[in-house]
Amino acid sequence: MPHGRLPFYPFGAVMTLKKRDEWWYGDSQQDIRGEITRYSKSVGYLAEHFADAVCACGGKAFWLLLDEAAGVASRICVACESEAHPIGDSEDFMDEADEEECVCPCGEDVFEVTVGVSLYDGSEDVRWLYFGCRCVACGLTAVYGDWKNEYIGYRELLKRV
Ligand SMILES: [Zn+2]
Ligand SMILES: [Zn+2]
Repeated sequence: MPHGRLPFYPFGAVMTLKKRDEWWYGDSQQDIRGEITRYSKSVGYLAEHFADAVCACGGKAFWLLLDEAAGVASRICVACESEAHPIGDSEDFMDEADEEECVCPCGEDVFEVTVGVSLYDGSEDVRWLYFGCRCVACGLTAVYGDWKNEYIGYRELLKRV
């Protein structure tokens, strides 16, 4: 489930995200970056680099599997239904993982996905990873998971989103 810590929204500067009830709603995948940035400030490790998930077929809508505790997430493209793709370095931790399907509070389960990372100061190495999702049915945009990730070289990690 998406995190519920959404009561404060400091600058109102982030594109078209709109708050309704307890959730934020975005108009496009770009809004996921705004939500990750906002959320990452509350964690304390600012997300500064991002990658959007795109299937080899060009598809950008996915069913998602996630085990936040293990730091593992996978995506299955709705357009081509190819085999689940482990996001980032998830493959390395799959043995310990017990993934569950992501479902939006609206009941739908197809998402756009953007991953954001925070780096160690003066380094290209990853410190923290944010897994952001936007429901294509209702637009609800949230960080569905975030965890410590110490991948060496963020560019390579983000290529594997
Ligand atoms: Zn595909
Ligand atoms: Zn939804």
